[in-house]
Amino acid sequence: MLTARKINKSYKSGTSRLQVLEGINIDVEKGEMFFVVGPSGAGKSTLLHILGGLDVPDSGDICINGYNFKKLKGRKRSKLINSKIGFVFQFFHLLPEFTAVENVMLPALISGKSRKRSFEKASGLLNQVDLEGRVNHRPSQLSGGEKQRVAVARALVNDPEIVFADEPTGNLDLDNSRELTALIHKLNREKGQTFIIATHDYNIVSKESNVMRLVNGTMAG
Ligand code: ADP
Repeated sequence: MLTARKINKSYKSGTSRLQVLEGINIDVEKGEMFFVVGPSGAGKSTLLHILGGLDVPDSGDICINGYNFKKLKGRKRSKLINSKIGFVFQFFHLLPEFTAVENVMLPALISGKSRKRSFEKASGLLNQVDLEGRVNHRPSQLSGGEKQRVAVARALVNDPEIVFADEPTGNLDLDNSRELTALIHKLNREKGQTFIIATHDYNIVSKESNVMRLVNGTMAG
């Protein structure tokens, strides 16, 4: 479902270049939970952004279900990202002026679904993440764990092929981290949803999942 080959990425730093990713290869099957683990600064976020089409590599190829990102530009590329990929970020990135259900609806509206359909889908997902009582809350009225569950529901609203989660528990306390991890496992089991999760926290990595260790931008096993 997702293959990445020889991904390289560097950033300009003054007069030199900082190599952030070097020769990364990844294969993820449909329905898999795939973890990218490594210390802070290892290149996990950069890799997830590249795999999810939010950033471009210097070289290398990424294919998601046969679509090669390199060959897609402009609106076609944004459409593919909005419809096939969901993102969950460490700092939630919810829009403060919108309610929980409106935040979840937004990617569905952008993809052209009607208000009614988007609302129904978003409400159903908020039920699935146990937030049926918080539908009309704004982000400032939600706890950290609740905000992240809204973000998970938003990531799922277009039935994406893959959900990328970048340090999804990085801003949560232990109880909320456990709860969110259990929720992601449940969605993986029950919906067969493919997840690629970057984390420095080995506690959220399940034993049966595939794990790639990233150290200084290279694969360490
Ligand atoms: P991680 O997610 O594992 O903590 P990141 O992917 O955020 O790691 O960062 C990897 C390295 O790339 C770090 O050394 C960071 O400083 C550098 N880096 C990330 N983004 C940029 C950028 N936009 N410009 C320059 N350097 C960057």
